[in-house]
Amino acid sequence: MNNGKYKRVMLKLSGEALSGPKGYGIDFDIVKSISEQIKEIAEMGIECGIVIGAGNIWRGRNGSDMDRTTADYMGMMATCINALAMQDSLESMGVQTRVQTAIEMREVAEPFIRRRAMRHLEKGRVVIFASGTGNPYFSTDTAAALRAAEIEADIILLAKNVDGVYDKDPNKYDDAKKFDSLRYIEVLEKGLQVMDSTATSLCMDNEIPILVFALEKPDNIKLAVQGEQIGTLVK
Ligand code: UDP
Repeated sequence: MNNGKYKRVMLKLSGEALSGPKGYGIDFDIVKSISEQIKEIAEMGIECGIVIGAGNIWRGRNGSDMDRTTADYMGMMATCINALAMQDSLESMGVQTRVQTAIEMREVAEPFIRRRAMRHLEKGRVVIFASGTGNPYFSTDTAAALRAAEIEADIILLAKNVDGVYDKDPNKYDDAKKFDSLRYIEVLEKGLQVMDSTATSLCMDNEIPILVFALEKPDNIKLAVQGEQIGTLVK
């Protein structure tokens, strides 16, 4: 039985969300606590796709003068490491999952096949989409927007380390104001730190709402799928 507001959601986790205070690598206590929340919403009957970033392992050129495309492929590979960690954690709790990857690696994950992903979701399996979009020069935010459109997700749940979208950096300015809701175009025009502009435009063109909220509060993913007023809604 689904007692949430949405039937199908796309959860976007940044790589950094998995690293905790260390800021690097994977903190398994954090992965476990995120998995517990995902298990809860899966048990509510909400179909859940997940895109995970890779900032905890590798992000683009990382300040080096590497070839951009090579560095980006390294980032995409790193998303697979995070995806497998999340899969392992969810499966250890009895949640059925599939990892689908945009870059083929048949020994470790299924290739991304939209119809197959839809079938998994309908069967209640959590589908983790790895390798971003499979293309350099993109971000995992864009991958989340793209996969959300493809699987016809009702909303993107953008879990961050801040509790919404502010007019300026709340860590630097005491008078920073949080928005309850925003239009996509305002995000683009004001250059607000929600998603990059490619991802935001894709959501705007396909009318996919984005809920930005803090991951650290234990019940937030559940509250988000129940349609509670948390964070900032971009629509
Ligand atoms: N990346 C890419 N194409 C994609 C998705 C990701 O090239 O479709 C690369 C890019 O280098 C990016 C890195 O993978 O910096 C990690 O993704 P992202 O920065 O989005 O991770 P997050 O900030 O969410 O942890």
